[in-house]
Amino acid sequence: MKNDLALLGAESKKFVFAEHGMMIGGASTQASDGGTIPVFDPSSGDQIAVVPEGTVEDVDRAVKAARKAFEDTSWAGLKPAARERLILKLALALEEHAQEFSEIESLNSGRLIMNTRLFDVDLSVDCLRYMAGWATKLHGKTIPVSVPYAPDMDFFAYTTREPVGVVAAITPWNVPLGQAIWKIAPVLAAGCTVVLKPAENTPLTALRFALLAKEIGIPDGVINVVTGYGAVAGAALVSHPDVNKISFTGSTDTGRIIGIEAARNFKKCSLELGGKSPVIILDDADLSQAIPGAAQAILGNHGQNCCAGSRLFVQESIYEEVLAGVAKIVESVKLGPGLDPSSEMGPLVSATQQERVLGYIRSGVEEGAEVVVGNSAIDHPGFYVKPTVLANVTRDMKAVREEIFGPVLSVASFKDTEEAIAKANDTVFGLGASVWTKNIDKVHRMIPRLKVGITWVNTHNVLDIAAPFGGIKNSGIGCELSEEAILQHTNIKSTIVNVD
Ligand code: NAD
Repeated sequence: MKNDLALLGAESKKFVFAEHGMMIGGASTQASDGGTIPVFDPSSGDQIAVVPEGTVEDVDRAVKAARKAFEDTSWAGLKPAARERLILKLALALEEHAQEFSEIESLNSGRLIMNTRLFDVDLSVDCLRYMAGWATKLHGKTIPVSVPYAPDMDFFAYTTREPVGVVAAITPWNVPLGQAIWKIAPVLAAGCTVVLKPAENTPLTALRFALLAKEIGIPDGVINVVTGYGAVAGAALVSHPDVNKISFTGSTDTGRIIGIEAARNFKKCSLELGGKSPVIILDDADLSQAIPGAAQAILGNHGQNCCAGSRLFVQESIYEEVLAGVAKIVESVKLGPGLDPSSEMGPLVSATQQERVLGYIRSGVEEGAEVVVGNSAIDHPGFYVKPTVLANVTRDMKAVREEIFGPVLSVASFKDTEEAIAKANDTVFGLGASVWTKNIDKVHRMIPRLKVGITWVNTHNVLDIAAPFGGIKNSGIGCELSEEAILQHTNIKSTIVNVD
């Protein structure tokens, strides 16, 4: 089996092997103390690059650059239509560099090139185009006020939407460029500026994107990227007094720390956190659709999806058939480097993640789960884990309760829809859920009772830029994409005019 580096195109190689700097105020910048972070190819475990290890001082410089750009006429003073045109230009530039970005992302994150192309590049191009349109549509309302304690006076009242200011965007490693653009696109459309801190192990596409934005004429300081560790650069960004909004995607534990810090300084905050999403298959479902659907719900992006269908619940009468069908698909998955088009699953992102996932499988086995398929790394360098199905699981097992963020599926049965809903909701998370059935009455009775932010019927993990995406409970606060995301980057202002 080859590794990803051997499969990389010439353009991508040129970028990966170049010296990498953070983007601060339009300049490529090394860390204030010269520190660096190694970047690895997960398909071999080999180091492929270093990026600066951003310091507290670097974060301060980046926030100052973002503030300056926010106040500057070259950005805040741009007419909405001019901002829209620039964002569209950025979308086109990303589309023109689609192959390069997909390859770099695949190399750095270990994910399939088909996946990085779709979710990091093509969907990001769509996201930029969708949000560009909002730049000219952020209007307020006129309000017919009565002011009952001043009956002889007349007033004219209206609302306006103003950009919140400097946004701190912090992203995880599972869909690195995609997550970054979900944050950057509404920032640009609303007229805000941003300091992005990508995950420490997948910083490359964010740095390449910042260079592209500069090339096409996004003013200096509007998009800043500080690479660095969460506990230092991330924490400094979140607590910086001149940041107005925090947009975070990552684990629930980190989200809790960030939420507390945001509350301390009354910053706007959106948190997209973890999940343990249920897939519920009723006995009247079309199994030719439901079985591959359930398998894909956990296999997609190697299970490194916040809304991965990691808990499968199957009605008793079809349990054995569904378990056997899903296990057969999972067992047949061909592991290989993400850049090899014949691979069906790549390595996990890091040695730490590989060990974490294997640890969850071990804990399930120790607590009595049956391994139907999978349960090991493979005899090859790189951070591969065989996708795994666990049966005979109980609600209190660690592998059932906690987010694994890897290709591990737990399968259990239920008697009726009441029990299915109770089991699906028996989690601290509330991100996504899918129901598989041909009975539309059951669908409409079940969906309102599922405690999640997004539900799917006879499908799982389908996203669109125009539909809001976010969780409830420990899966987060606020949402991304759609009109909701752009509004979260604005403050609403009321104005009341005495027209007497
Ligand atoms: P993580 O929380 O460890 O890290 C996420 C980001 O936060 C990284 O950039 C990290 O450097 C930074 N960070 C860490 N500590 C910080 C701190 N104290 N202050 C500020 N920043 C800090 O998460 P991860 O392991 O990179 O990503 C996996 C998690 O992300 C999973 O839980 C997954 O479900 C979640 N996720 C959620 C969504 C969603 O939309 N709900 C999408 C993708 C991933």
